[in-house]
Amino acid sequence: MFVIRLLATCAFTLVIGQQVFAQNEATPVSTLGPHLAASQAPTAGVESQITFNSVHVEGPYIAMTFDDGPSKALTPKLLDLLAAHHIKATFFVIGENAADHPEILKRAVAEGHEIANHSWSHPNLGKMSDEAVRRELRKTDETISAAIGVRATLFRPPYGSITPRQKHWIHDEFGYRIIIWDVDPLDWKRPGASVVCNRIVKEARAGSIILSHDIHPGTIEAMPATFDQLQAKGFKFVTVTELLAMARPLPPKPATTPRSPAPTPAGSAHGSPAPGVSNG
Ligand SMILES: [Zn+2]
Repeated sequence: MFVIRLLATCAFTLVIGQQVFAQNEATPVSTLGPHLAASQAPTAGVESQITFNSVHVEGPYIAMTFDDGPSKALTPKLLDLLAAHHIKATFFVIGENAADHPEILKRAVAEGHEIANHSWSHPNLGKMSDEAVRRELRKTDETISAAIGVRATLFRPPYGSITPRQKHWIHDEFGYRIIIWDVDPLDWKRPGASVVCNRIVKEARAGSIILSHDIHPGTIEAMPATFDQLQAKGFKFVTVTELLAMARPLPPKPATTPRSPAPTPAGSAHGSPAPGVSNG
């Protein structure tokens, strides 16, 4: 009886979810592009959304992301730390670095992490021609595929810099979803390990996508305490693709509100612009 009720509840939730998302749907699944295999298709509910700064989830799930590697010296150290904490992360790799160290990508995937595209040479895409952007993305896409045997499905523009028009054609042509962030410790300014740790722990919310870089020694040094403190607060770490699969509709805004507005949900899936100046 319990199982039947559970199934009925799940089915009901699914239907409601689809209805809510259908209202926002602008892009049918069929436009996801020729490169996106059916097995990689996004789960129901998030397919209409291209860009994510964070995700509305039910549960204490967050995604750690590490950009600009792999670094021959630092990424293996980080992988050791992630393994010791049983944490899965997402690496937005630079194609040039990935081509130099495909073995690090292989190891990361073997240990449960996700590899994603962060361009070939880290240019500011907002100022480039479509053809130049295409070359940056394609070379990295091919390098990742050659290293790990599957295509990336996520892209993060360097510096978070990308135009709305670029988002759409990149999504259509590569099938990528565009991943920004909502927590930025500004670790690229090398403020010291304790500052990096404190900023991340203070700002992380359920559904957060946390930016950091596995090319700075201070960032790696910050991670043991960061992981310990986030886990002590009850957060659970998933890859970005896993976080996106957990996306739930935002609760409807109350119709009448004057005195007791509902609390703002942690993390929004509805695209605030890229946060301030950062190194992405
Ligand atoms: Zn970057």
